[in-house]
Amino acid sequence: MIGLSTDTTSILWDHFHLLNFVWPKELGKSLFDRISDDARKMLNSKTKDGFDQACAAISEILIATPEKYHYFKEGFMNQPHKCASYVINNIPMSLGRKGDTPAEANHSSIQAHLGSGGSRELFEQVEQLLQRQHEIGQQHHVADLQYHQNCSIRSQQLSKTDPSESEALNNLSKYAYSQIWSVEKAAASNYILTLMPHNAVKVVRRGLEDGRIIAMGERCNCDTRISMGVQCRHEICMKKGQFFISLFAKRHLQEYALPNGYVFTIVVNVLPHN
Ligand SMILES: [Zn+2]
Repeated sequence: MIGLSTDTTSILWDHFHLLNFVWPKELGKSLFDRISDDARKMLNSKTKDGFDQACAAISEILIATPEKYHYFKEGFMNQPHKCASYVINNIPMSLGRKGDTPAEANHSSIQAHLGSGGSRELFEQVEQLLQRQHEIGQQHHVADLQYHQNCSIRSQQLSKTDPSESEALNNLSKYAYSQIWSVEKAAASNYILTLMPHNAVKVVRRGLEDGRIIAMGERCNCDTRISMGVQCRHEICMKKGQFFISLFAKRHLQEYALPNGYVFTIVVNVLPHN
């Protein structure tokens, strides 16, 4: 697990493997049943006292075998900054030690696809990774085609009653439609428009006095509009709730997911076997 703090990067031990799969051979399998409960308490302890108590319980068992005790003391007991919850949870963006879960899921997926590897030729390993990428690309492609088909049907239904919504649904990607357009449009209903001198407009949230002034022919300068490249709530209000495709960056359009967006993952020239 890697936790990022503001001024340093901390490389921490993988909590998932510490708890699930990797039992150190130095401790021997026979000790697992006697130690594992306290080892779990040690890793999950929210306080230094809890960590120390669990370490003491494990030490009591290991003290009779000096090499094992030494391994445990130097490798774990003396390194709470790498494995203990009470330390790691205080590192900004360490994600409560769950940061390794998505990485682990991807790792498991590669493991399932490629096996454990090891003795494989490099070209064969690369070929199998490309095939995996190809399969993932195809899965996304099929899902996007289905979404596109559903949008076409729904937008046809909407075309007479709400042409603007119909156009938004038919043109925007799933994410851009559901997470940006729909959210910003709902928010825009809380804003009102005031005409200003020189054809500028002022977009003000109901109940507030301060608002955003948008000059004729200019774009809104709010964070959402700039960082996402979309028609923000202020511009939706300015356009009286109407969708304008030209106000969205191309990356938000469905046509970029269909089908050429997948050309680099679908068309893979795999090296032939010799
Ligand atoms: Zn804006």
